[in-house]
Amino acid sequence: MSFEPDSATSWHERACHLRFQTQAIVDGRAVAAASGETFDCVSPIDGRVLARVAACGDADIDRAVLSARAAFRKGVWAGQSPASRKRVLMRFAELIRAHRDELALTETLDMGKPIRDSLRVDVSSTANCISWYAEAADKLYGEIAPTHPGALALVTREPVGVVGAIVPWNFPMVMAAWKIGPVLAAGNSLVLKPSEKSPLTALRLAELALEAGLPEGVLNVVPGFGHTAGRALAAHMDVDCIAFTGSTVTGKLVMQYAGASNLKRVSLECGGKSPNIVLDDFPDLDRVAAAAASAIFFNQGEVCSAGSRLLVQESIREPLLEKIAAIARELRPGDPLDPATQLGAIVDAAQLARVLGYIESGREEGARLRLGGARVREESGGYFVEPTVFDAVSSRMKIAREEIFGPVLSTLAFRTAEEAVGIANDTLYGLAAAVWTRDVTTAHRVARALRAGMVYVNCYDADDITVPFGGYGQSGMGRDKSLHAFGKYTELKTTWLDLS
Ligand code: NAD
Repeated sequence: MSFEPDSATSWHERACHLRFQTQAIVDGRAVAAASGETFDCVSPIDGRVLARVAACGDADIDRAVLSARAAFRKGVWAGQSPASRKRVLMRFAELIRAHRDELALTETLDMGKPIRDSLRVDVSSTANCISWYAEAADKLYGEIAPTHPGALALVTREPVGVVGAIVPWNFPMVMAAWKIGPVLAAGNSLVLKPSEKSPLTALRLAELALEAGLPEGVLNVVPGFGHTAGRALAAHMDVDCIAFTGSTVTGKLVMQYAGASNLKRVSLECGGKSPNIVLDDFPDLDRVAAAAASAIFFNQGEVCSAGSRLLVQESIREPLLEKIAAIARELRPGDPLDPATQLGAIVDAAQLARVLGYIESGREEGARLRLGGARVREESGGYFVEPTVFDAVSSRMKIAREEIFGPVLSTLAFRTAEEAVGIANDTLYGLAAAVWTRDVTTAHRVARALRAGMVYVNCYDADDITVPFGGYGQSGMGRDKSLHAFGKYTELKTTWLDLS
């Protein structure tokens, strides 16, 4: 049953009665870790332990991979027609929609994002992603190559086999869905390791998938730490492909584990330090300010594609920063279970310390703190940081170069569009970038010169499941979303028939 509590009190009341799945889902069953160990799942809203979750390790990953491999070999999923897989995945998407309030509440309690975002963004994007890939399942055709008439050469796609997916905590359900959708639609089996900071919704998704009719062993979810469960999965000799989303530092390790084990296929969706370039010919500064604020403060800035570097033409720097500061002042962090709250909690104490450390480094390196900079709502026991805006940032400073993953905006000034492109591309990353201008030629020139996987013109973070998501450089390799994601989870086979 679904109802829509419309006040913080009713969400808190509902939270008291919520049941969490805390065991791993392996071979269609909920199981404790083989070691019997658990880890504390702490809510960033108040610092309290929400649940004790199975701390999976090597033995559990072995068990999950074995089950995924057996399901794949038996063909219980890969052997079904694409239309039949579509029906199961459509039911799965419907169940996600039917459990909207429960999933949103779990996500908010576990990760700290505002309930309004969990409802409007996370649950709906998750369901939409699953149903989009479900619908695509029976619409993918193979090819016939234009060979000479004496041959018939078929080019077909087959599931790669057992896929391991490792995902982060900033959009726990959505990041999981970006893997689950194309991996399962293509007929693979999956072993998913959610982040130890937000494991609860992935476990619930696995239960709902079973309820929808997904055969046992096709989707296994193994919660645990990165250096144990994550490492075991990436290094496993019987995993065919590892799909990773997380930091660049961990992405590099995942590649090493893959290389040192069975040379499994690797795709990486890693970090970013994305530039948002504003030229002074853009006529509507209010619109830019609203988008620039949302680009860095949405989801507490814990967004891989966040517009964390604002590059502004010198002549409009002051008025634009005034407007952004005015918006940010209204964005007081609040109780994430209050439907009016727009800025929630930082995911945990370690991430809070990291964000505050970067704010301190900005001050020390001589950037001008224009707004915010402090921890707030400490009395709640949770981890909250004010929206923070730095001005007079130079490209050499840490707050201009490193991913903070918090509500901290670094503003850099420039004089010409060419200079802006130079600053924008002066980064290890290349996930997203934006340019604001009324001149269509400049828009095209700058967009073409930006080294990033997603370039926005006169907008920021425009999003749709139909377009690829991923980055250049150390932002990773491979793309999530869109039909292109199928390339990661399928093998291309040529079958040559001699007709002579
Ligand atoms: P993280 O790298 O610390 O962890 C990501 C996942 O990797 C977690 O499940 C973690 O347990 C696991 N992990 C950690 N150490 C591991 C190891 N040694 N071996 C195997 N797995 C290991 O990242 P995070 O803090 O959870 O997430 C934030 C990062 O994710 C940011 O850098 C952000 O930009 C990135 N991100 C990227 C995208 C994208 O699509 N490009 C999307 C969301 C987040």
